[in-house]
Amino acid sequence: MSFYQEDRPKQKRFYSSKRWRACRDVYLSTHPLCERCAQAGIASTAEHVHHKIELTEANYSNPMIALNPDNLEALCFECHRKEHHGASEVGEEYFFNDEGELVRREEISAQG
Ligand SMILES: [Zn+2]
Ligand SMILES: [Zn+2]
Repeated sequence: MSFYQEDRPKQKRFYSSKRWRACRDVYLSTHPLCERCAQAGIASTAEHVHHKIELTEANYSNPMIALNPDNLEALCFECHRKEHHGASEVGEEYFFNDEGELVRREEISAQG
C-alpha cells in the first residue's frame, strides 16, 4: 500500500501555486504552534499546514476546501506524520518535503 498516490499532478501544481503558498504563510503566521501539541499542553513549532479534508483532484480547485482556514490545521512534523499514517510506524526513510508531501529519503538521495 502506498501512502500517497504517485500521480497527483493537479494537486501537486496547487501545492506549488502562489495562492497556496500565500495562504499557508498567512496561516502559519497566525498559527505558529502545532495545534495538536498545543491541545496537549506542548509548544511545538508548526511546520506544515494540513488539509483536514484531503485535497483530491475533485476538490483542490475549490477555495472553500483548498484555501479555507477552517479546513486547515497547523501541525508539527510529528503530528502531520501521525495524521497521515496513524499509529503505524513510518520508517525514518520517510519525510515531508517543502510541499508537505511525504517522500522517501532514498528517492532524494538517489538523485545525489
Ligand atoms: Zn504536534
Ligand atoms: Zn496533511
